[in-house]
Amino acid sequence: MMIHGSTDGSFSGWRDTARSLLAREARPEDVLWGGDSLFSSLSETPAPADAASPKVPATFLKLAADVSRHADEGRWQLLYRLLWRITLGGERHLLEIASDPDVAKAATMAKNVRREIHKMHAFVRFKLISTDEATGRERYAAWFEPEHHIVQAAAPFFKARFANMDWSIFTPKGCVHWIGGVLSHAPGLPENPIGDADALESAWGTYYRSIFNPARLKIKMMRSEMPERYWKNLPEAALIPDLIASSRSRVNHMLEKEASPEKRAPSLPYLAKLRDLSSAPPLESIPAAASSIEELRQLAANCRACPLWADATCTVFGNGPAGAPLMIVGEQPGDMEDISGQAFVGPAGKLLNRALAEAGLDREAAYVTNAVKHFKWTPRGKLRLHQKPDATEIDACRPWLLGELGHIKPQVLLLLGSTAARSVLGKAVPVTKFRGIVASNAAPRVILTVHPSYLLRLPDGSRREAEYRKFVADLRLARV
Ligand code: SF4
Repeated sequence: MMIHGSTDGSFSGWRDTARSLLAREARPEDVLWGGDSLFSSLSETPAPADAASPKVPATFLKLAADVSRHADEGRWQLLYRLLWRITLGGERHLLEIASDPDVAKAATMAKNVRREIHKMHAFVRFKLISTDEATGRERYAAWFEPEHHIVQAAAPFFKARFANMDWSIFTPKGCVHWIGGVLSHAPGLPENPIGDADALESAWGTYYRSIFNPARLKIKMMRSEMPERYWKNLPEAALIPDLIASSRSRVNHMLEKEASPEKRAPSLPYLAKLRDLSSAPPLESIPAAASSIEELRQLAANCRACPLWADATCTVFGNGPAGAPLMIVGEQPGDMEDISGQAFVGPAGKLLNRALAEAGLDREAAYVTNAVKHFKWTPRGKLRLHQKPDATEIDACRPWLLGELGHIKPQVLLLLGSTAARSVLGKAVPVTKFRGIVASNAAPRVILTVHPSYLLRLPDGSRREAEYRKFVADLRLARV
């Protein structure tokens, strides 16, 4: 007799039904999987009273959870066939046989699903849709068109990454909302409810154009990493054909610039050399990726220009008054900054506050930021250990720092440590050797000193005290 199996479309629904079918020793070829209306056929066939649930390997459950999100309507049938073979069929180690057609098909489907979850993490673009007048809280929304049923599985990533804002992601395969700290799911929508053109899209396009490096263009790889079916919902994608078409002439232009006589100038005394090699352009030509610092901050929240975003909780952008006379640039957010979303709030930040106060500077009046906006770390047990960003990551993040610099236009720019120095001055500079006022056109006065975390790492108490005094003396140079 044919038995009708049913699911509510969820993995847990399938699992309950499959358990019941196994208890009846129903063979896969005797089960017809379908919608809810067929469920009665199974209910009318009671399971034996002494039926025990066979043990199912954890590897199967993990695989089945992924496969259950695939769009293929045959997924429930395939999963039940695998389950039956592993349990009642006596093929306990079936999943180890990669060449088995059922195993191979399930593995491919699971891989497709995982890949699309990754793509959703990368390609969702939030737009500001409203601001609550009473609370000032902003609400963001995004539209995404997945092929598979991945919204629930992808949601925890967005919850962790954008915990501090209210947002909704609408898709035809289900919607997810994070409002007031509560995550909820809703059925999918047939069409994008958000509306299209807005300033955020054009600003995102400006930023994408500025980070697009024609010399690194690999069209095949780009199409594989950013499949074209996602392009219509990516503001920056409209720029891609033009950027590809113009890449050859832009590379030639870059090569000509590299070969220019100024670049081949013989070595100069240190300060002049630093000025010559500084790639910080005059303030008026700093690329403004947005019309305000707030807009820049929102754009940076979605930045994927280097891999650091993937393991961090959020983009830690700078903060402080617009038009601050003093701008302080550190290296990158640490563990506490990554969680709080604020720059310099951990131990190094506390030491900086103390030293600023001793130097007669008001931190509240300064704009404080980092050269790299995402926390780079490596796990050590339960700890996340800081890792220094490399040159590629510093350069990838540089447009954000230049954007901040272009909007704040400080009188004094204080660079803390070698990462800030490299980002602003455009080359590696030995900090302890050249600390003090350095020549750069990034601001009327540019001061280079050590990062406060350097002081925290010094093991010797008297050395630490001496270095701290030198640090405070450097900060005094920043008084306007
Ligand atoms: S570290 Fe900077 S460049 Fe890299 S993803 Fe974060 S914001 Fe973007």
